[in-house]
Amino acid sequence: MSGFVIIGAGKAGAAAAALLAGAGERVTLLGAEAHPPYDRPPLSKSVLLAGETPPPEALLTPAQLAAITFRPAVSVTRIERAGKRLYLTDGTWLPYAKLLLATGAAPRRLDGDGVAYLRTYEDALALRARLLPGRRVVLVGGGVIGLELAAAARQRGAEVTIIEAGPRLLTRGVPRAVAAEVAARHEAAGITLRTGAAISQVSPGALELAGGEVILADLVVAGIGAVPRTQLAEAAGLAVGNGIITDETLRTADPDIYAAGDCCAFPHPLAPGRLVRLESWRNAQDQGEAAARAMLGAPAPFRTAPWFWSDQFDRCLYVAGWAEPDAPTIARPLAGGATLHFQCAPDATLLSAAAFGPVELGRDIRLAEMLINSHARPMAAQLADPSVPLKSLLRR
Ligand code: NAP
Repeated sequence: MSGFVIIGAGKAGAAAAALLAGAGERVTLLGAEAHPPYDRPPLSKSVLLAGETPPPEALLTPAQLAAITFRPAVSVTRIERAGKRLYLTDGTWLPYAKLLLATGAAPRRLDGDGVAYLRTYEDALALRARLLPGRRVVLVGGGVIGLELAAAARQRGAEVTIIEAGPRLLTRGVPRAVAAEVAARHEAAGITLRTGAAISQVSPGALELAGGEVILADLVVAGIGAVPRTQLAEAAGLAVGNGIITDETLRTADPDIYAAGDCCAFPHPLAPGRLVRLESWRNAQDQGEAAARAMLGAPAPFRTAPWFWSDQFDRCLYVAGWAEPDAPTIARPLAGGATLHFQCAPDATLLSAAAFGPVELGRDIRLAEMLINSHARPMAAQLADPSVPLKSLLRR
């Protein structure tokens, strides 16, 4: 008898499996890696900084894992939609009644030899062994991976340089003012930031910039974005673009196939007129569960505003909503020197909130997120005034 099958045992796949198994359904979860589903945020943070090598952090409890059929180290080679079958790398096939594609994304590759990447637990262990005092570590890409790795490498005593092609750090989805605060913290820690820097060649031990300058490196790690894994869907005749295309309930054009997480391109009411793809831990969790509910016959439009965090040194970067990198922000100074930055639409609808500071800022970001999700239109003067509690704006 066929049941629910999930391809991809990352955050989205695991969240969907937990929900389906909790509803008493038969679920098979297929993972290409050898481990049961594990959490990836620690890979660029605590796994690199802990004294002892920590094991992967399990996403499912032993009881949840026991309630599903989990098949590690196996990949799907083909989806046969007409017969509702999956062909696997171990030579077998598997029937499905409803299928979830939670295939995630793969690191974008940088041309050149000897470049390291971070996506899996094994990648993190390999990097950990090479982040040593005095080593020259070059991070290519001033996004979340580059910055988290830079902070960890510096904390482990390495000499660190970040090479970013864009004019500043965090060019995607982080307001300029917040990115400037992040840059200042990294520079204060002794990290060299090279923005607007094009790379002409990477070879083991050295990296050459477009102008001819050579930067010596014991380790080059690229964090230059991620590419959604869409090949299976495309080969099965499903629509793909910048991700596997779904409707607002995360269903593809095939009524029995859904997509969730990093691989999914979907319409979002806060971003009208285009398909969006979100690469974040929270989105993977929320979409995994939303897709599972839809597979159970209770589809609902996925409308949650995006949210992500990034730990760097003693601070945390938070972004809720759709931040326009180059749009102006309304600044709300907070006790302790941190600043909350808001962005609003022309009609005053709150679109985003972002900050870089102590982890406790998460409380304010959570309230801002609730304002964003309720389409609140707070007055700019109130947003800027720290004596006006954000909670009070929620009640209006
Ligand atoms: P990212 O955040 O998109 O950042 C990539 C950066 O590299 C961008 O600033 C990009 O600039 C720049 N870049 C692109 N090509 C370049 C080149 N050839 N030379 C120099 N710079 C270049 O992607 P990421 O940091 O690689 O992260 C990848 C994945 O890991 C994502 O799925 C992310 O969600 C996940 N991740 C998330 C977190 C978190 O949320 N805290 C932490 C770690 C990893 P342009 O924009 O100008 O192209």
